[in-house]
Parts: sequence; C-alpha cells; structure tokens
Amino acid sequence: MKNLHRLMFAVCVTVALLAVACQTVPLTGRHQLMLISPDEERNLGEEAYKKAITSSKLSQDQAATDMVRRVGERIAKAANRPDYHWEFNLVEDKTPNAFCLPGGKVVVYTGILPFTKDETGLAVVVGHEVAHALARHGAERMSTGLLTELAGKTAGIVFGGGNPQTEKQVEEAFGIGSNVGIMLPFSRHQESEADEIGLFTMAKAGYDPRQAIEFWQRMEQAKNGKPPEFLSTHPSDETRVKRIEGWMPEALKIYGAQAK
Ligand SMILES: [Zn+2]
Repeated sequence: MKNLHRLMFAVCVTVALLAVACQTVPLTGRHQLMLISPDEERNLGEEAYKKAITSSKLSQDQAATDMVRRVGERIAKAANRPDYHWEFNLVEDKTPNAFCLPGGKVVVYTGILPFTKDETGLAVVVGHEVAHALARHGAERMSTGLLTELAGKTAGIVFGGGNPQTEKQVEEAFGIGSNVGIMLPFSRHQESEADEIGLFTMAKAGYDPRQAIEFWQRMEQAKNGKPPEFLSTHPSDETRVKRIEGWMPEALKIYGAQAK
C-alpha cells in the first residue's frame, strides 16, 4: 500500500510538472517548453519595464510619440488581449531598436524611425515585437536556455535582490536593447513565429501587410557588415522575406476584410 502511494505521488508530480512545462503558442499551435508562469513572467516584465523607463529619456517629439501610441493602440486592439496593460513609449536613443515586455509594455527607440519610415512601417515593428510577447518568447528563452535557474524566482528577488547579473539576464531574454551589453538573439524559429503572428496582427489592425517585406529589405540593406542592433536581437536570414511572401495571401485577405 505504501508503495502504491509512493507511485501515485510520483505520477502526480510528473503530471503537474508536465502541465507547467508544456504550453501551446496561440495562432501557430507550436508546443513550447515553459517553466515560468504567466504571472511570474508579467511581474518580471513589469520590473524590467520600470527599470528601462527610469533609465531612459522619453522623446520630446510629440508628433512622433503620438504616432507610436496610435500605431500601438491599433495593434493592441487587433491582438485582442484585454488582460494586458498596454503602454507605448518613444525613447530618445539613436540605436535602432524596439521591444515589447510581457503584459504589453512597448518601447520604441527613435533610432528605428528612419527604418520604419511611416506609420505602416512602424506597425511592422510593433506587430513583430507584440508577437514575441504574445508567444511568450522571453519566458521560453528563460525556460530553455542558460536562464533556467530563474524559473521559480519571483520578480522581487530578481529585481532589487542586489544581483545585477540576474537582472541583466532577464533583460536579455526579453530583448531589451542597448544598455544591457551582450544581445541574446531570438531563435530562428521564434523570429519566424513573430513574423507570422506580427503580419496577421498588423493586417487585422488595418495596415498593409506588404510593407513588412519592404521594411525587412530596408533592414537587410542597412547591414553593410555590421547588423543594426535590431537585427542582432532579431536575426534575419535570406528566407525571411520568402516566408513572409508565403503568408501574404492570407494576410491580404485579413487586410481586405478589414478595409470593407
Ligand atoms: Zn524578433
């Protein structure tokens, strides 16, 4: 009897671990390893966001800030996550970069605006960043990579716990830019997934998805040996545009339906 109890206990523990450890990405249906709960992830995101905003200079350009918020709110509406507490900020920084933290905190650097060119180009970037958050890619990186030891730690222990190294690892996992040192690139798989979810989200928000191809081509052209920072966290490969073209008929259908 005692052995049976032990066996049942082992089975329950295993089932509980599997339930936490596996989850499905919305829209693409991919299974991902996940050792961090949505609450833990959101708390880490909130703390990382506070730190990023207090150490940055918000843009004084009202028209550009308004554009970031306008695009952001349209993308947020299309993402349909009322549980997120969305915020959109434009930060004065010449590095071409942008990121979205869990729970919907989006930061765009002024340095990416020359690449996005207009509102639709910005929707490509915001859509892509929001997609990384929707698919929980940061938490997935913490779960699968070097950062496994973070699982189970609360945000309060990570941030303000006096260990700058751990804070830095969280910031890297979420793809926060310039001031954190070494960039941790999203995997090819996560990049492709963010492209796919981002493309459909921007189309649903009423932005022409064909501009996504133009944007990535502009980014590629800017490489000249040294990739722009955005490409070091969001690595591109020659098949990116081809894959986007593959999703385009469906994206255009969504965009057309939206325009009616
Ligand atoms: Zn990306």
